[in-house]
Amino acid sequence: MRRKHQVGGSSPFLGSDTYKGSGMLEMTFLDAAHYIAEKGLVCASSGNMSHCRYESHGSKIWVTATGAWFSHLCVDDIVECSFPDGEVLRAHSDNKPSSELKMHLEILRIRNKMNTVLHFQSPYATTLAASFTGSWLGRLSVIPEIPYYVGSIGCVDYSTPGSDELAESVAEAAAAYDVVFMKNHGQIVVGTSFMDVIQKASFVELASMILVHGQGIQTLTDQNVADLVKYRNKK
Ligand SMILES: [Zn+2]
Repeated sequence: MRRKHQVGGSSPFLGSDTYKGSGMLEMTFLDAAHYIAEKGLVCASSGNMSHCRYESHGSKIWVTATGAWFSHLCVDDIVECSFPDGEVLRAHSDNKPSSELKMHLEILRIRNKMNTVLHFQSPYATTLAASFTGSWLGRLSVIPEIPYYVGSIGCVDYSTPGSDELAESVAEAAAAYDVVFMKNHGQIVVGTSFMDVIQKASFVELASMILVHGQGIQTLTDQNVADLVKYRNKK
């Protein structure tokens, strides 16, 4: 059963006007987390998410607490930290920020036009990440949404979750890609809003499902992809 959470009020991570998406729809941190869980983009306590607000004095990042379940996320499960150093500014009880906070910080330090990072572990995309031969990487463009909304996708080798090594390798890859697969682990996506990261993660999962299940799958042609990339770059 979902834990009761307060909606509205002055909390920076609950106000509906705080996290405006680029489109018509808006989502708060909690709305986004519950939707992500309902859509199966994370499993039990897997995954973590952060949202950064850049200020000339005192940028802040809000991140899921270690061990938090997206399906039951409540305001107490979000830890407020300084950005970019990640010092805890506010936490409920003895909650600690996700052990993968460093990965989020490193990514947003580099991708400072983005503000939201989601580490997800959806079934089909993670299947591909575990069968990491690299051969599927160039085949994810099976639907137009991949080149248009997601672009090219990066991959990194396995490192221990929460380690500096993982944070650094993922951030290096995320400098060039909005979505990075982590071998035998899951995926990370960076975007400009909660809606943006959810959309990219959902399209990656759909394309992965098509590749895993499909027989005789045809990818878009190089020309199809080039045409879509042209539109993507005009966005
Ligand atoms: Zn992880």
